[in-house]
Amino acid sequence: MSLRPSILDPLFAPANTLPGVGPKIAPLLDRLLGEPGKPTRVMDLLFHVPTSGISREMKGSVADAPVGEPVTLSVTVVAHRPPPPGRRAPYRVLVEDETGDVTLIFFNGQKARLEKLLPVGERRYVSGKIELWEARRQMVHPDRILDERGIESLPAVEAVYGLTEGLSSRMVGRYIGAALEKTPQLPEWQDQAWLDRNALPDFRQALLTLHRPDNAAQLSEDALAKSAPRRRLAYDELLASQLALALVRSRMRRLPGRVNAGDGHLVERLKAALPFGLTGSQAQAIEDIRHDLVSDKKMLRLLQGDVGSGKTVVGLLTMASAIEAGRQAAMMAPTEILARQHYERLAPMAEQAGLTLALLTGREKGAARKAILAGLADGSIQIAVGTHALFQEGVAFQDLGVAVVDEQHRFGVHQRLALGSKGEAVDILVMTATPIPRTLALTYFGDMDVSVLSEKPAGRKPIATKLIAIDRLDEVVGGIGRAIANGDQVYWVCPLVGESESIDLAAAEERFEMLQSFFGDQVGLVHGKMAGKDKDAAMERFSSGETKVLVSTTVIEVGVDVPNATIMVIEHAERFGLAQLHQLRGRIGRGSKSSTCLLVYKGPLGQVAQARLEMMRQTEDGFRIAEEDLRLRGEGEVLGTRQSGTPGFRLARLEVDGDLLGAARDDARLIVDRDPDLVSERGQALRVLLYMFERDSAIRLLRAG
Ligand code: ADP
Ligand code: MG
Repeated sequence: MSLRPSILDPLFAPANTLPGVGPKIAPLLDRLLGEPGKPTRVMDLLFHVPTSGISREMKGSVADAPVGEPVTLSVTVVAHRPPPPGRRAPYRVLVEDETGDVTLIFFNGQKARLEKLLPVGERRYVSGKIELWEARRQMVHPDRILDERGIESLPAVEAVYGLTEGLSSRMVGRYIGAALEKTPQLPEWQDQAWLDRNALPDFRQALLTLHRPDNAAQLSEDALAKSAPRRRLAYDELLASQLALALVRSRMRRLPGRVNAGDGHLVERLKAALPFGLTGSQAQAIEDIRHDLVSDKKMLRLLQGDVGSGKTVVGLLTMASAIEAGRQAAMMAPTEILARQHYERLAPMAEQAGLTLALLTGREKGAARKAILAGLADGSIQIAVGTHALFQEGVAFQDLGVAVVDEQHRFGVHQRLALGSKGEAVDILVMTATPIPRTLALTYFGDMDVSVLSEKPAGRKPIATKLIAIDRLDEVVGGIGRAIANGDQVYWVCPLVGESESIDLAAAEERFEMLQSFFGDQVGLVHGKMAGKDKDAAMERFSSGETKVLVSTTVIEVGVDVPNATIMVIEHAERFGLAQLHQLRGRIGRGSKSSTCLLVYKGPLGQVAQARLEMMRQTEDGFRIAEEDLRLRGEGEVLGTRQSGTPGFRLARLEVDGDLLGAARDDARLIVDRDPDLVSERGQALRVLLYMFERDSAIRLLRAG
């Protein structure tokens, strides 16, 4: 049962309760704004930020119309040019004024409709953006086409929205108008003095101004970035997320923690058994962690370290500490492959130290699963390694002391809460391989304590990165032949071909067959659609050296460790995010031999694509790459949230609202210090905010205690 305040009901109502949104329109809105399985709500329309604005005043001559900005032109229709029969070409309509002409472009344009809309010889007003195509002006899918009467009735300014097929900007604008009518005046959750100081409107006013600006310039891209109404709403969203994190954290802190460290004998024994000495930053991290574990406060620490910096061993020693204190420990990985690899690597060390270890993923079934569950419940299993299956209902630990979560950015706050609920006062160490820029770390982890592994283990050789056009694939294959002959191993990552995994898979299979035709049985294949045990078998053959080339879709992205692999080929590198390329490249350069990463691209590359790949060639510094990635592509890409579906932000844009993030965090801390249970008047309003941005899991926490 939801305890959502009823004042929010109009905003959470489905969009089809709005006038004009019937059974035909609702699915289109779902496609545009909904999440899978969730119908669009009134609120989703309100948060659909305009992309630009058009106005009657913007009328100008064709020759003077700026390229790339919304314009409204008064033109005469000259000629229709339908596509030749049977050809998939756009429908073109030529229009002009005294100063020049523009071609209007319609994909899938219907002749009858367009002839009615744009009769030859008549005057019409068209709004949209002019682009240049082979030095000629064109306008693709004008936002508006109006006759004299139409322009008269046009509001002075009209917002233009991102669309999906079947919806016009005008229609979306109308539904948003209806949604605005339903928007209640909500209690103010922001600090009024702060709003005044920054000249920010209240929530409702912000929505009204955003969708109905006084002049179209307010909706240009630059203006929107700085626009007071949008910033106000972005701040609301950021505050909701920071407050949720702060509440979770303070709640965890308020729970009495326990001492999860013993006399150090196990930790020392494990350290002595390692085939290497710890790096300075590993030693420092372990000390930070020990400090947390011996205190009676709960640990909530983020261990941040680039790929290959050696986080796993830090995780292991952390778990050993808990076991010294007579408790159990768990390590959670985001994928089966990774969980299994952790298990296989930790098992011999654990055995040497006399510890019992078990693996639990979705694949352990039947009797085997029962035995593991029993062992966890009676404490005979000391360390559990697994996927999120570890923290599902039905898994009970006898006494869990420490949970280590690897590659955290793939998990959401909810999972973190589930994990905390598996034992009272579980100390939590979160390890992340993605070098997350500071701004993003704040958003996703709030103010967790942080340890950073800033150096790589000694003896690592730099990785040479080369860009190669796909036309030279034969050279790549030749080079690989030489490398194999030399005893080296090769990862071959296939392109992201399409939205769908099955298309990617087809490409991987094709590449696999081609490479097999050269290198026979030395080539293996692994992909996401394989049954778990086939995946393991393929990985196992590669890590044992039985296969020399491993062709894969991107499943190897996270965490896999085969030190003998020295070559990484990434096809269609231009389609990957920089952070992802960095992760993939981090799979090599782990042994003492020098390594090479070949970024195979399909030219010609655009300027941005060129710059991005060049960046990869120039640096191995994950932080620099991540910052650059953030700048170039926005935050979703950096955290890989698009693949994992972690809820991101609808209004806040971290590239332009980074300053607000810090402010929101400070604000959230202050709120939690002063009013930890959100009972004051502002506290009550803040509850409304949390519900609105669906960060209310934090409220359940308040209620619980
Ligand atoms: P990541 O931080 O990417 O998870 P891993 O924990 O997988 O990195 O470590 C990468 C490799 O480096 C492993 O083979 C591991 O055994 C090795 N390693 C870890 N710490 C050190 C060290 N201090 N000296 C040498 N090698 C190390
Ligand atoms: Mg790792």
